[in-house]
Amino acid sequence: MVASPPGKDFSVTANLARLTRTRPLLVCSLCLRVQRGSDWVPAENVIRDLRSYELAKPPRLGSAVCDDCAESILSRRAQISDVPVAA
Ligand SMILES: [Zn+2]
Repeated sequence: MVASPPGKDFSVTANLARLTRTRPLLVCSLCLRVQRGSDWVPAENVIRDLRSYELAKPPRLGSAVCDDCAESILSRRAQISDVPVAA
């Protein structure tokens, strides 16, 4: 069975810590998930992985809209534009 062993991946954590010093963490303004690579993950997972509570300075945050929320906004807009305007 090929599976990564359970436990912390310190290299990933170190890379993320370095990343957050230079680039803000992008947070979806609607669902508050945080972008990590191509994924949007719950903030509590990111806090746990980054151990941001142990950092001297809090990570910088940037606002964004995740793919799921963007899609739901676009589909709602499409539905609204399908509805005829009441006279
Ligand atoms: Zn979102």
